[in-house]
Amino acid sequence: MRRPLVAGNWKMHGSRESIAALLAGLPKLGGVEVVVCPPYVYLPEVIAALHDTDIGVGAQNVSEQQQGAYTGEVSADMLRDIGCRYAIVGHSERRTLYGENDEQVAAKFMAAQAEGLVPILCVGETLAQREQGETLTVINSQLDAVIQAAGIKAVCSAVIAYEPVWAIGTGKTATAEQAQEVHQAIRQQLGANGEGTRVLYGGSVKAANAAELFAQPDIDGALVGGASLNSAEFGEICKLA
Ligand code: PGA
Repeated sequence: MRRPLVAGNWKMHGSRESIAALLAGLPKLGGVEVVVCPPYVYLPEVIAALHDTDIGVGAQNVSEQQQGAYTGEVSADMLRDIGCRYAIVGHSERRTLYGENDEQVAAKFMAAQAEGLVPILCVGETLAQREQGETLTVINSQLDAVIQAAGIKAVCSAVIAYEPVWAIGTGKTATAEQAQEVHQAIRQQLGANGEGTRVLYGGSVKAANAAELFAQPDIDGALVGGASLNSAEFGEICKLA
């Protein structure tokens, strides 16, 4: 009942040339929803190039402000205006490298939803937190911050991505069991309304480990970083979802 979703987060990679090649190789699939999240500056050309396809386009970040004197920021309204459908919020790189806290993540989530964008809300624990046995508590409180601010229904209508920080870009993936445990806890926290919510796994997803992850009952797809820059590899992952 939940349509699988595979989203590619290109991060700060690419050029017009490499992106054109990547777009040409993207999979055209029916069952799975495919989304790509290019850097801001390439959004209009990616949206134009994919305009006749079912592939959706998302931003990697969004401002919590509506408009005004916020140098360097991009609003949800602007993203909607150019045809974006999704916005990643709370990615761990934003949280750790740019100091985004739970409150700001919740504000970004609400700003995105207010303009009709579907937030892809990222949550995840660090290695130290996992080793301390704090994984489920950390995930619960990151999610709760957004539930308190936006409401449970709003969170259930978004996409959640569980991304253990220690698995991002490290080549270390959570085992399918480790991921399923957290996904199940997330779904429990969402309650009855969360039955239809897509919960993606992210962190070194590759064609080689995707099938095992996707076989878990509460894993509805993936948020893919590094492997999304290779269209053949990304296409394989999408096919497996
Ligand atoms: P990765 O990144 O697939 O390169 O680990 C995932 C992410 O940061 O979304």
